[in-house]
Amino acid sequence: MNFEKNIQDIIPIMEQWRQKIHSKPEIAYEEFETSKFITEKLEEFGIEVHKGIGGTGVVGILKGNKKSEKAIGLRADMDALPMSEKTNLKYSSRNPGKMHACGHDGHVTMLLGAAYNLSKDNNFSGTVYFIFQPAEEGGRAGAKSMINDGLFDKFKMDSVWGIHNWPGLELGKAVIHEEFAMAGGDLFEINIIGKGGHAAQPQHSNDPVIALGFIISSLQTILSRQLDPFSNAVLSITKVNAGTAFNVIPESSYIGGTLRSTNDKERNYLLKKIEETSKNTALAHNCDIEFKINPGYPPTINDKNSAKKVNEIYKNTFGEDMVDPNQSATMGSEDFSYMLQERPGAYIWLGCGENSEKLHSPYYDFNDKLLPIGTKYWTSLVKNLLP
Ligand SMILES: [Zn+2]
Ligand SMILES: [Zn+2]
Repeated sequence: MNFEKNIQDIIPIMEQWRQKIHSKPEIAYEEFETSKFITEKLEEFGIEVHKGIGGTGVVGILKGNKKSEKAIGLRADMDALPMSEKTNLKYSSRNPGKMHACGHDGHVTMLLGAAYNLSKDNNFSGTVYFIFQPAEEGGRAGAKSMINDGLFDKFKMDSVWGIHNWPGLELGKAVIHEEFAMAGGDLFEINIIGKGGHAAQPQHSNDPVIALGFIISSLQTILSRQLDPFSNAVLSITKVNAGTAFNVIPESSYIGGTLRSTNDKERNYLLKKIEETSKNTALAHNCDIEFKINPGYPPTINDKNSAKKVNEIYKNTFGEDMVDPNQSATMGSEDFSYMLQERPGAYIWLGCGENSEKLHSPYYDFNDKLLPIGTKYWTSLVKNLLP
């Protein structure tokens, strides 16, 4: 693969940056050293920096040499995972129990590479915002924190773009979902309230254990009977609890589970149905329920036009066969979804090689060969969207 001179020149430097960040992983909202490193680099490139957005978030602002009101945001996530690394690499984690096992060290570096390259050659119009966000992992929603802290109010941008490295996919090949890319994941809890009593005299009780059994069965029928067969969703009951003694009908019982859905409309419909079905089933057994949703990340939905645009740009930049049209979406989730709810844009997967360890594996390491490819993609996106 060919790279322009500015990118070619910094390949070894990018590898150093990436490995340095890799060796000092920081988890959600603790990305102090990482954001400091990013700030220093952006300032070195002569880029205006705003710090402390949504915690440790950083935004760099670069204007093109042609005047325009147009602006776009490019986003990288900075956080590592609370897990122990087993790679034995010379640059493996120096922070015990923390590891860059999702490649966010690479995401940061690819965006820094683009910032460097575009600072050297700002032959574009309008403004680019380089967004470095905290806390993508573990449901901590760093993207939402930055939005709540005024990301899109302070920095006026028309669209927003994201990358995730993708193990198992050929190096440098892209997957660009037309709309649905990643699932939304919500947790729900159902407390079933009955009336306790002697196990030998059930007629004096309202048994919440029987209600629990019927509710579990009924909930599974929501997906099979009330959702379009061409839709995708997963409902798993993962926690069940009731009772303390063999001869006592307990006062209450408990069900916990998770719903994975692919769009907001179905998500809201299914959550409502879970509550209604649980309540009505409980009522049939003279019990009542308390229902609680712990919302997770919403589904990641690309804007159709943006996905189409990026598809063309990627093919023009890297070759017709470098976009893989045959990959389905995943039921994993991603908090870039919050940014895509605010602005149109697209989130793409970039292949980091068929033999790469899977994300979140203790043996995973970001493939440095992807660094110049990601940087080239970001640069090409800017030049094409802000000509
Ligand atoms: Zn991850
Ligand atoms: Zn990730």
